[in-house]
Amino acid sequence: MFQLFGHYSFLFLFLFICFFPRPCFPARITPAQITVITNDPHNATWRSFIRFKDAEKGSHVNGMSELKKYFQHFGYLSIRDNQNGNFTDVFDTQFETAVILYQQKLGLTVTGKLDSDTISTIMSPRCGVLDTAPKIHATKHFAYFYGRPRWVRGSPMTLTYAFSPSNMINYISLSEIRTVFQSAFTRWASVIPVNFAETEDYISADIRIGFFSGDHGDGQPFDGVLGVLAHSFSPENGRLHLDEAETWAIDFRKVKSKVAIDLESVATHEIGHILGLAHTPVKEAVMYPSLSPRSRKVDLKLDDVEGVQSLYGSNPNFKFESLLESENSSNKGIGLKCRTSKWTSSLVVAIFFLLLMIT
Ligand SMILES: [Zn+2]
Ligand SMILES: [Zn+2]
Repeated sequence: MFQLFGHYSFLFLFLFICFFPRPCFPARITPAQITVITNDPHNATWRSFIRFKDAEKGSHVNGMSELKKYFQHFGYLSIRDNQNGNFTDVFDTQFETAVILYQQKLGLTVTGKLDSDTISTIMSPRCGVLDTAPKIHATKHFAYFYGRPRWVRGSPMTLTYAFSPSNMINYISLSEIRTVFQSAFTRWASVIPVNFAETEDYISADIRIGFFSGDHGDGQPFDGVLGVLAHSFSPENGRLHLDEAETWAIDFRKVKSKVAIDLESVATHEIGHILGLAHTPVKEAVMYPSLSPRSRKVDLKLDDVEGVQSLYGSNPNFKFESLLESENSSNKGIGLKCRTSKWTSSLVVAIFFLLLMIT
């Protein structure tokens, strides 16, 4: 009897292990990784905001005025909200409205509170371009800058780009930086009827690329390691600025720093702004505002492509089906893994029963 009970309990345990539902998410709904590195002493920017976690309307936390300045900086609180030149430390109605708008614009669950997801997104390194423009309401997809500016040139359109002769970094060679940007420009050029050509003439180039540190004369000073990674300007301004203080990387196998930022991912994102796209709340899209250190996001997603094509039209050689196929194939890949694991489980159970019968 005891032996029989032993067999059954073992059988139950085995079946539980084999059939217990394991998470099996399709790739498309996996949120973009937002990693907050709190152990690194260099990652001081925005790290202190962790103390506002779980704050909600009515809360009073010392230093909350600093967080309100962050919200003002990225376009969620206007100067008008900062009536006496100093924000208070009280989580008031205006701030709640700003938090709700932020959650909508960043594709987060809208709670109006500084829940852990929201505070973690706030602390993530990101692009310095504002998320909101006046009179533009929160959307669930791609957005443009105010007035929907775009480049206007003859057809076929060619935009020239050049690298600053004086504002570059010395630990990545110019030829490697050239290759990275060429690849980033090619991605956008493959979906719209616009060509990009490098020129030596920095002054007259349409798009001017450089690495800058701190206050560099455009009213948007960089803030050191992490925090703001880069910024660029809407058409037809053409300035694309990268924060010199970041640990820029083109191959994470060679760069071991915890705060390394993938140059090609940021280049691809900033070119989107140069062309006229603003930030999207779609987390997997290139035009999502934040990017974790040591992560790479270079492939244009449906949201990016639809956005830029509504400004410039489609490249005649671009096929939507191939984009949909490549997005679906990653889902199929995951699905296949799930099916395979079920087959494996069934095989194990069959072998188990066979062994039970033999003994
Ligand atoms: Zn951006
Ligand atoms: Zn700048």
